[in-house]
Amino acid sequence: MGFSLNTYPITYRANFSDGKWSSEYLEKPHKTPEEEAAMSDSDLAKLQDSRNCYDDMPLVSYSSQYGLSCFEGLKALPQKDGGLAIFRPDKNASRFYRSMEGLCMPPFPEQYFLEACIETVKRNARLGFYPHYNSDWKKDSFMTADSVYIRPFTMSEGGVGVNLSSKPWVYVINTPVSSYFSSDNSDALVSDRVRATPNGTGWIKAASNYVISALAKSEALNAGYMECVFLDAVHHKYIEEGSSCNIFFYLKSGELVTPELGDTILPGITRASIIELAHDKDIKTSERQISIDEVMEEAKECFVSGTAAGATPITSLTYHGKKAVFNNGDVGEFSADIRDTIKGIQYGTLPDTKGWMTKVI
Ligand SMILES: *Cc1c(COP(=O)(O)O)cnc(C)c1O
Repeated sequence: MGFSLNTYPITYRANFSDGKWSSEYLEKPHKTPEEEAAMSDSDLAKLQDSRNCYDDMPLVSYSSQYGLSCFEGLKALPQKDGGLAIFRPDKNASRFYRSMEGLCMPPFPEQYFLEACIETVKRNARLGFYPHYNSDWKKDSFMTADSVYIRPFTMSEGGVGVNLSSKPWVYVINTPVSSYFSSDNSDALVSDRVRATPNGTGWIKAASNYVISALAKSEALNAGYMECVFLDAVHHKYIEEGSSCNIFFYLKSGELVTPELGDTILPGITRASIIELAHDKDIKTSERQISIDEVMEEAKECFVSGTAAGATPITSLTYHGKKAVFNNGDVGEFSADIRDTIKGIQYGTLPDTKGWMTKVI
């Protein structure tokens, strides 16, 4: 299923004006989940479209005209022992704050962000809108498991000339989501496009960054690959990221490498969590530059990481017609172990020893 725009009924929004934030929860048109499941596709599509309409929002704004907006993505995951829990929402709260600061908007207080994420999931669950834990999910390491995707984002006030936003809205919507990658292969293609430039906005989850990602990803998909990989803007040599995920290489030497953070790399929360888990497993872990040549010669395994991707193995990388196949094209032992560890913590089949999960219901 991947992402779907079957937005759940409850949406949060806040607006900054007169120097302060005011907020509300909106209940959009809906029936019960059972009634909605019984509706015809076209009737359901109409209902869902009506949930995605906000008549009181300006059409012409710095967001709609110039992509001046930022967002977050986090998940509430059904727990083995029942209920729902969110993975490290405090980290998303602080990244959202930094993103808004980076775009020179009045930043949204982290405590409000946390409350809005927890409360939208809770209110939607109260109306019956949430996935239930299914033990079958364990069979494929939760790769096709369902969860609630929480999408906070900003929208600017109305405006037509290129400008910054001083009175933004913050919305939080919830949608159901299952596995992200739906291709029948796990091959990646190195793109010649440039996602992020030094002194640019690559470190911000800024809407405008994702146009290039979408172009490069669609080129990769059309060429028969699952994912694209970006190189750096200056040397066209060092690995940066996947389309909207961070990337890791497990080298033949036993070292785990991921590109070091800087202004062109998005500081992923999954990335940070994997680094911590790898340290715990006594794996030599480096955040450093890694060139495409080193990867083609020395990498034994590769995977991309993100809220949507989890830790998704990449079985080959193609660069200017040359293909490096990792681990004979099979999912590597290390990649599988990291993926199982993080998914196990998220779905509650492994103990949450680090206090990463925030219980919602
Ligand atoms: C969101 C995102 C990631 C992954 O971040 P997580 O916090 O792990 O979800 C990586 N790269 C880009 C470009 C992103 O937008």
